[in-house]
Amino acid sequence: MNQERSISLEWGGTIKYPARFTLVAAMNPCPCGYYGTDLCKCDERQVKKYQGKISGPILDRIDLQVEMSRLSTDERFAENESESSSAIRCKVEDARQRQSVRFQGAGILHNAAIPGGLVRELCKFSNDAFAHYRIKIEQNVLSTRSMDRLAKVARTVADLEASDEIGSEHIDKAASFVIGGLLREAF
Ligand SMILES: [Zn+2]
Repeated sequence: MNQERSISLEWGGTIKYPARFTLVAAMNPCPCGYYGTDLCKCDERQVKKYQGKISGPILDRIDLQVEMSRLSTDERFAENESESSSAIRCKVEDARQRQSVRFQGAGILHNAAIPGGLVRELCKFSNDAFAHYRIKIEQNVLSTRSMDRLAKVARTVADLEASDEIGSEHIDKAASFVIGGLLREAF
């Protein structure tokens, strides 16, 4: 979340203040924590009530939603095959550099800060990807905010892969973060 907010005061003044922060939060999918597996004992009403503690408008403002599936015993004892932090740092720095070049002189710091009206122009979709983007929006009845978020996250996925254009595969990957799975299925 990275925007300036204004508050209109009752006596006519306006205060502007920066509202840049990173929110990282975690939750269980249901009261018992096993939703999506045979072990879950919660009924549909309990799951809906539990997940309803976070309102739709709040979820709509969280850029990336990642579902963590339960690890098997083998996976827990497996060798760590993940990329090193330094390799990931290099990728992120390269992606940030691509954004700096893209937004040079535009007063935009990074993809998340692209103003709503400039999303289509600045995100650069391939023709196929733009058609795919429209289908995702329609299928998932996305709000305008979520629709823009999907494009911006796809732009970042493409930047991390050093791609000038957003492709359909970038839309799919971004959709897994933006649209979610279990949380959405429960409603
Ligand atoms: Zn449960």
